[in-house]
Amino acid sequence: MTTPPTVAVLPGDDAAPEAVHAAMTVLHAMELPIQWRILPDGHELAQTMSREEGEALVRQAADECDTVLFGSTNGQTPGVGYFRWGRQTFANVRPIKWRPGFRSPLAEPEGIDYVIVRENLEDLYAGIEGDLADVAASGLADGPRVGGVSRTPIAGGFSHFAEAEGRYAIKYFTRANVERVAHFACRLAQRRREQGHPGKLTCSAKTNVLSRSDGWFVDIAGEVAAGYPDIEFETFIADDFARRLVASPHDLDVVLLPNLYGDIFSDEGAGTIGGLGLAPSGCFGDDWAYFESVHGTAPDIAGRHRINPTATILSAALMLDHLGLANQAAQLERAVETTYAAGKHLTPDQGGNASTEQFAEAVLNALTSA
Ligand code: ATP
Repeated sequence: MTTPPTVAVLPGDDAAPEAVHAAMTVLHAMELPIQWRILPDGHELAQTMSREEGEALVRQAADECDTVLFGSTNGQTPGVGYFRWGRQTFANVRPIKWRPGFRSPLAEPEGIDYVIVRENLEDLYAGIEGDLADVAASGLADGPRVGGVSRTPIAGGFSHFAEAEGRYAIKYFTRANVERVAHFACRLAQRRREQGHPGKLTCSAKTNVLSRSDGWFVDIAGEVAAGYPDIEFETFIADDFARRLVASPHDLDVVLLPNLYGDIFSDEGAGTIGGLGLAPSGCFGDDWAYFESVHGTAPDIAGRHRINPTATILSAALMLDHLGLANQAAQLERAVETTYAAGKHLTPDQGGNASTEQFAEAVLNALTSA
């Protein structure tokens, strides 16, 4: 890491730059020991350079800077796949924590405080898709039988795949990658245990139906967790777990999920504390990390100055912690908490009528008056 650390800021597309700019107002005012490199948003990138040049700029920022604070992309901002697969950020950390003033739909949200670790590189996100006829040609389709019956609505069974119009997508895991993300989750559970959390790892997937893929993922997580005797390990089938996220979220500490379930369940978790505007995230590899909110680009509210920047500000707090600026991270979190506890300058998704910028100003005031 350089001294001071360098941070590239990539605002992204649609409404995301509004959230990033609001967060940057607060971060600049904190006079942090950080060297900032502010990159253009997706629209500006498209106006001023070719896609290839934009992609090169984004990659270069990732390679030259210690980390990136990123809005979100709808595809217009190019090259961000490099942050994930190029830099092998295999663990997507998504804290789900309710704070007083967050507009949760639950009757008793007090005390919800857990972290989802989503495997970030494998599963269906490889994007390997194609025609079912290719599966028939490979011979793979002849295998699956449950109680002697093919699991397909195609008349004649899987061997008739070639005649049916259909598509497939591949879900895959590799042992080395599952092991490293499981170790990451266990170490996180250990760190949280030191801070007074239970020290528990929960792993979930559709193990009953997909025993050789999802079941294997959970088995490997269990094997890894066995090497951490201070960490309790439990598993739930994905559909049961979806219910538990709403019915008993207080029981959770660290949750390890395959990529797709992690994506879906973290939106569900965000919903339980009050919505997507409140959920931060960081993506960690062995030697690099970047930070972005859980939400996407919120295209439906772009240009309206009503996107809630809390998720981006809290992602920045995770980033400060990662850069060794733990005190400033805690200070920023406290300012967000003060703003919600006061409840006077909240964005429309939280029941208020403050603009994105007014909310950020309130956080800034809370920081300076603390
Ligand atoms: P992606 O697939 O890129 O994650 P998405 O399809 O999940 O994106 P989002 O951009 O996350 O979509 O938005 C989903 C809904 O939540 C939209 O109605 C959007 O306006 C709302 N939303 C998302 N983020 C925020 C925010 N920070 N503040 C207010 N509303 C938000």
